[in-house]
Amino acid sequence: MKICRTVEEFRRARPELGKLALVPTMGAFHEGHLSLMKKGKEVADSVAISIFVNPLQFAPTDDLANYPRQEEEDFAMAESVGVDAIFAPETASFTQGIKTTVSVGGVSRLWEGEHRPGHFDGVATIVSKLFLVTQPDIAIFGQKDFQQCAVIAQMVEDLNFPIQLQFEPTMREESGLAMSSRNEYFTPDQKAKACHLHDTLMSASTQIKESDQSISDILLSSQRSLTDHNFAPEYFAYVDPVTLEPKEHRISNGRLIVAARFHGVRLIDNIGVFL
Ligand code: AMP
Repeated sequence: MKICRTVEEFRRARPELGKLALVPTMGAFHEGHLSLMKKGKEVADSVAISIFVNPLQFAPTDDLANYPRQEEEDFAMAESVGVDAIFAPETASFTQGIKTTVSVGGVSRLWEGEHRPGHFDGVATIVSKLFLVTQPDIAIFGQKDFQQCAVIAQMVEDLNFPIQLQFEPTMREESGLAMSSRNEYFTPDQKAKACHLHDTLMSASTQIKESDQSISDILLSSQRSLTDHNFAPEYFAYVDPVTLEPKEHRISNGRLIVAARFHGVRLIDNIGVFL
């Protein structure tokens, strides 16, 4: 497994990698990340991952300084699933002095865009740089960050990146809690209780499928259930899966998306509701 610290090093390594799948990450790996890397092995000759805790996508009040970093473990985990190359640039060298922003309109303005201003500009700018440096044939992202998938899809279409995108399902703990590097901030008891976020999504999905309650009533009672369980919801919405626009009436392939704080940790999750 080749570890590249600079753009030049990766560019030198690129020709040997053949048809390449890229998995962009911020490190602190769990099974969710590994599932994307394994997928990459299935669909391409080689898999490259990037590990870069992107300062541009964190607001000043966010958890950038505390974001978990465990490079040696991450390298070993990546090697164990057959990753061929890692691009792990020094933060300073990759972003210092950067004066260009890639800003995706439409879908990036809603939900996460409203609650984390500038977040998707940071994501789109860095993902563009990663695409241009690593030149993958395929790029793989997790549906855990559902809106991020929609933003990247829009960007790839608008800027004609010659890259095929694949969005993979969310890996979960047995409790249903979506795996996330941020779950490490919880005590074991808090982590056990955090699965109520997924329970609430599942129960809203059942109500959409099986009851004749209005969407707005279902969303309201879901928010209430979260509040009753000590979550502070930022949004709980039923949306179109491509535009992320809210839907007041049932559609065949709607998505339930949620962001909520639990014991100070901001969690996001989503599920498809297929009628
Ligand atoms: P991150 O390191 O959190 O930026 O995530 C890197 C990639 O892993 C993103 O495409 C995420 O959507 C994806 N990812 C994060 N958590 C999960 C999960 N539980 N299951 C599947 N993919 C995930």
